[in-house]
Amino acid sequence: MSTLLNGKNGHTTHHRMEMFMNGPTAPRVDQSFAEDVFTFRVMQQRLPKDVYRALLRTVEHGDAMTPATADVIAAAMKEWAMEHGATHYTHWFQPLTGLTAEKHDAFLTPDPDGTAISEFSGSALVRGEPDASSFPSGGIRATFEARGYTAWDCTSPVFLNRNGGTVTLCIPTAFVSWTGEALDKKTPLLRSMQALSEQAIRILKVFGADTGVTAVTATLGCEQEYFLIDREYYFRREDLVTCDRTLFGAKPPKGQQMEDHYFGSIPSRVIAFMSEVERELTRLGVPVKTRHNEVAPCQFELAPLFETANIASDHQMLVMEAMKRVAPRHGLQCILHEKPFKGINGSGKHVNWSMSTNTGANLLDPRDETHTNMQFLTFLVAVIRAVDVHADILRASVASAANDHRLGANEAPPAIMSVFLGDMLTDIIEQLESGNPRKTLKGGKLDLGARTLPQIPRHSGDRNRTSPFAFTGNKFEFRAVGSSAAVAWPGTVLNTIVADSLDYVATLLERAVGGTTDTKKIEIAVRKVLQGIIKQHKRVLFDGDGYTAEWQATAKKRGLPNHRESVSALCTMTAKKNIAMFKKFKVLSKVELESREHIFIEKYIKQVLIEAETASSMARTQILPAALRHQTELAEVVAATEAAGLDADAARAHLEGHLGAVKALRGTLERLDAAVAKHPEEIHKHATQVRDEVRPAMAALRAAVDELETRLPRDLWPIPSYREMLLIR
Ligand code: ADP
Ligand code: MG
Repeated sequence: MSTLLNGKNGHTTHHRMEMFMNGPTAPRVDQSFAEDVFTFRVMQQRLPKDVYRALLRTVEHGDAMTPATADVIAAAMKEWAMEHGATHYTHWFQPLTGLTAEKHDAFLTPDPDGTAISEFSGSALVRGEPDASSFPSGGIRATFEARGYTAWDCTSPVFLNRNGGTVTLCIPTAFVSWTGEALDKKTPLLRSMQALSEQAIRILKVFGADTGVTAVTATLGCEQEYFLIDREYYFRREDLVTCDRTLFGAKPPKGQQMEDHYFGSIPSRVIAFMSEVERELTRLGVPVKTRHNEVAPCQFELAPLFETANIASDHQMLVMEAMKRVAPRHGLQCILHEKPFKGINGSGKHVNWSMSTNTGANLLDPRDETHTNMQFLTFLVAVIRAVDVHADILRASVASAANDHRLGANEAPPAIMSVFLGDMLTDIIEQLESGNPRKTLKGGKLDLGARTLPQIPRHSGDRNRTSPFAFTGNKFEFRAVGSSAAVAWPGTVLNTIVADSLDYVATLLERAVGGTTDTKKIEIAVRKVLQGIIKQHKRVLFDGDGYTAEWQATAKKRGLPNHRESVSALCTMTAKKNIAMFKKFKVLSKVELESREHIFIEKYIKQVLIEAETASSMARTQILPAALRHQTELAEVVAATEAAGLDADAARAHLEGHLGAVKALRGTLERLDAAVAKHPEEIHKHATQVRDEVRPAMAALRAAVDELETRLPRDLWPIPSYREMLLIR
């Protein structure tokens, strides 16, 4: 493993190419396994030397590509794709729906003379023009100017999508409006990576080290949690089919209290599913690595090796799609919702994040040479500051109706954005704050005496699972991201807030250090700057149990924001400071940011209303009729008992209890329908009304339905129960 991860200098050209598949410094995996990817290796084999070099210049330095070069690449791509059975090609992009989009065109075009010619030009590769009118734009575009363009992102590899017996060449693209505004998730991610790179290089310059660094890349490794349930049950539940989660369901006698599922042996049907997913993903170049059972029954996890943020983000979309696609072949349904079942753990996506130089150094790896440790601490402190200053936008980046069931709902992790460092780093930060970290910490953990700067162990022993943002060895792990989320947006926000913080730190350092190359002077200047920042932002550091009420109170005292639900979180997106930041680093204009806030709030409303209407429909057409049937049965019992001249008191009491439950069902159903019927015009008002009226009404209806589930005979209960669904093997 260590040799795989070690990407130090001295790459041959060949190695450099391989790494571009995964980003400059991500694990150097041999991409020859990626049969369905037009890898750099394949390109090198198939393209004329000069064309291949021109492509590398575009990928590495962003040089413009000439139409002639694009034509040659397109021709080679088409040839390769058709040899692999592809009949169509598509620009593949990530509109703001949170899904991916594709529109296929055939390679073969019929000729008037009755034959067909195969066509795929450089311009078709580089630019597409899908009808953009039906994608969310958040007001950027009126439908009459619906033009949108897709533009080839040549840093993310082209691949073949095999589905339904067909093969399609997929070209990762950015999606922008005709006026140039980003209509997708990829464009701002790429811009944020650029911003991060520029600011990180300024810091490196201060330290004078790594002078060969020309680029710093954000790296992402995303752990995907998911549920699998038997497909037969899935189809019998309108809520699962429509909303990807259960809206009703009484607590089963056995949930996760036995803690027997986590890392348990994987059921054979599930492992068959997992390995098929892995095979498909491997062909697509996704470096899948880890699989295991998760905490809740029927919950599992898949984790690939980390890659350059942009590629990891594309690959993450492929991971979700592959899981959804493969599960039915095993009679399973893959559920990516953040909280499919009440009462047991929900699913998240841990987004591991770091920064790497093009020379192969992980900037968050504490175990470098002594002189670079101060550099490490600078990056570390900059990230801490970023989370404190921009807790609002970071929280907003993971806000969704679905994620509300996790964050702030007494489940991992809380909605308060805090940073976990672990014992070692906390200690060093404390020492740094109060002066010169020189003293020797006994116990053999740290020796600060011999050197002016601390040597820090790579892995601090503990791993706090309750922290939303934890330092885990040589990267940060952002755990608040929802399982169904596209990681591009949280990734964009992370990159941008850290770029902003690095800019701040770099400015202070450049001023303090001046032109000096005297390491001693640099060190003293850096220490002073870091001390000031630590003093100001240490309130965001928290290593304790994030689930406790005390933390909520402490965080409040410290003045940390705590947006427990999405509407208030999303409304912070367009705060003045956020608009200014995204603008300054050219990640999003004011219009682009506002449009995103609009789209996310709109999505929140739609998602909750779809759930509300589904709940109402199920209650009215499935639950109530079943309850009424049972009511008749109970009434018949009373009548028959009386007719037999027996004491019917118990039977009558039973019936009355049931009538009470039915009445509660009717009442809560009416309340929900009334709440759904209101439509405040203004979008923020509507979202607030949905949050304050519709959601509580749904909860009340659910309580009534779940109560009935415990009362009705099993043969009358119209939908599969938790007990059934959560026991598949
Ligand atoms: P755990 O479940 O204990 O959190 P895993 O090993 O399942 O850990 O996942 C850790 C993830 O972090 C993997 O996807 C791994 O590739 C990723 N990762 C490791 N180093 C980095 C890094 N420098 N940048 C981004 N992600 C990283
Ligand atoms: Mg993790």
